[in-house]
Amino acid sequence: MSATIIDGKAIAAEIRRETAAQVAEMKAAKGIIPGLAVILVGEDPASKRYVRNKERACQEVGIYSEVYRLPESTSQEEVMERISVLNRRPEIHGILLQLPLPDHIDEKACLVAIDPAKDVDGFHPVNVGKMVIGDKCLLPCTPHGIIVLLERSGIEIKGKSAVVVGRSNIVGKPVSMLLLHRHATVTMCHSRTRDLGAVTREAEILVVAVGKPKVVTGDMIREGAVVIDVGVNEVEGKLVGDVDFESAVEKASAITPVPGGVGPMTITMLLKNTVEAAGG
Ligand code: NDP
Repeated sequence: MSATIIDGKAIAAEIRRETAAQVAEMKAAKGIIPGLAVILVGEDPASKRYVRNKERACQEVGIYSEVYRLPESTSQEEVMERISVLNRRPEIHGILLQLPLPDHIDEKACLVAIDPAKDVDGFHPVNVGKMVIGDKCLLPCTPHGIIVLLERSGIEIKGKSAVVVGRSNIVGKPVSMLLLHRHATVTMCHSRTRDLGAVTREAEILVVAVGKPKVVTGDMIREGAVVIDVGVNEVEGKLVGDVDFESAVEKASAITPVPGGVGPMTITMLLKNTVEAAGG
């Protein structure tokens, strides 16, 4: 079998078109322009690139955006003060604190300072708690993007055996919860899992978010499984996922490529969250 390639770029483009139409309609009907503020502290090249991409994506769909590029030496108090000002500004509906922050800044304290109603990354404990109990809230972008990828690809989640490799707060744990809410039977794996392959071979839906190339190979995949590769690793100047694509594509029924799979969905879900935070 050779798997269907799940085209994250095309699905993301389709959602961005829908979002642009929704933004235009909000503007025309209610005079509301969704607004996003991004705070970037320091000079991390990947973070700078992500922030540029977020700015560009906002422009593309008509979302107003502001970016605060703060020097590495910025104190925690200054970041918190910036957040507090943005919390009070009605034309700013979403606040995104680009992670990681420099070591001298307490990430958790800053995230908690963001008004949960403007927490478009879905990282505030209030939103995390609501997500776990299944209340309406702003969902974290990458996990939500994975669910939307599955849904728009016509892949049924209900009743399926899903295995998630990786248990981070930003991907592994929340995507497990979202799959569970959609009635999958979910198993979570991590670095202490004994015989990873034995567990992953049970998966009808396999999500891999580890951050190590080729941690999952074809022999660890059940025939016909749907494989979602979240990993982004740079190997010899090329971006590769956590799944060995060449061997996996022979076993899976559908698979996301890297790049062009989950990646394009993350910023797209950020745009959707900003619109939602603005009342859309
Ligand atoms: P973390 O480093 O926070 O978590 C990695 C997880 O993988 C941990 O739970 C760890 O286990 C587990 N792990 C490590 N080694 C193994 C192993 N050999 N077998 C099984 N599990 C293992 O990573 P993130 O969740 O933040 O990110 C994962 C990947 O996804 C990265 O490549 C990142 O770049 C990418 N990513 C991509 C995004 C996108 O938009 N495309 C967005 C976010 C992340 P333990 O808990 O025991 O240490």
